[in-house]
Amino acid sequence: MFASISGPRRPSPPRPLRHARRLAVLATTVALGAAAGLTVAATPSSAAACNGYVGLTFDDGPTGSTNALLSVLRANNVRATMFNVGQNVQGNPSAARAQVDAGMWVANHSWNHAHMTSMSQSQMQSDLSQTSSAIQSATGVRPQLFRPPYGETNSTLQSVASSLGMRQVIWDVDSQDWNGASVSQIVSNASRLQAGQVILMHDGIQNTRDAIPQIMSNLNSRGLCPGMISPSTGRAVAPDGTPPPTGSPTTPPPTGSPTTPPPGGACTATATFPNVWGDRYNTSVTVQGASNWTVVVAVTAPQRITTTWNGTASWDSTGYVMTMRSNGSGNTFGFTTMMNGNSSARPQIRSCTAG
Ligand SMILES: [Zn+2]
Repeated sequence: MFASISGPRRPSPPRPLRHARRLAVLATTVALGAAAGLTVAATPSSAAACNGYVGLTFDDGPTGSTNALLSVLRANNVRATMFNVGQNVQGNPSAARAQVDAGMWVANHSWNHAHMTSMSQSQMQSDLSQTSSAIQSATGVRPQLFRPPYGETNSTLQSVASSLGMRQVIWDVDSQDWNGASVSQIVSNASRLQAGQVILMHDGIQNTRDAIPQIMSNLNSRGLCPGMISPSTGRAVAPDGTPPPTGSPTTPPPTGSPTTPPPGGACTATATFPNVWGDRYNTSVTVQGASNWTVVVAVTAPQRITTTWNGTASWDSTGYVMTMRSNGSGNTFGFTTMMNGNSSARPQIRSCTAG
């Protein structure tokens, strides 16, 4: 699979870790964080012309120049997916937090960019879970996407990622920025992107940052907009939580069956089920109509919720009714439910309350 996708090319080895702690970097991070509310709500300026979405991805961060990258992305109304290295996140959690504050999606790119196919299954598991924990600790967001270093993977690694609730995402287009490509070469490579596809780029490369305005101009002229990578399909889709380009009523994501709860307060919560495995499934709940919200969800016994992300969860005495409150991680939260023998039941949203 790897060979057919990426050919003989190899993305860059991990660069030396840059645990930048300069005051200037921290000051920039604070400024980005303060603008978070505005940024996340931003839609592409060319939203009306979106005929399709592409996934822009930046690997190997955070780095000492993450804030410079975020500034360029924000200036061009880009939301991108950042495949972070766990060790870098641990060394620079504020930069990882700044990624989320700037509206980016954070994803898992291993702990220290090792060649993972030579690892044992338990080594893979501990590497990826340590990385996801570091990302969640720094950002409040649990990754749902994983990209193996160098694009090197095998079935064991894919199943380990899956068992941790992550979908493996490689890439369709390699920008070659890791290989010394010029700005114009990066722009030219990006021009091959088609709707739904994903491009590999890197944090920490000046040419990549310099290419972004032209990449965006080219995409816009072709009716393509930056989107999120769907954890269920691995393809680029419309950013969740943002209005559709036409301004028509929001349509549910392509997979999963939506559950519309009775209105409670001033918000609406919609559930989809992007990942279903043999023994468990993920639920993604998107809240509309409030930025501070409380959603009550009930699961059917003997099912049990085991993991949650993007919210603060509490439970009633039975353990089957979860109250999830917004925690600043946006308007989509999620959780993993163990089926425990009941594979058909799905959670019921009991209420959505603003404030
Ligand atoms: Zn990498």
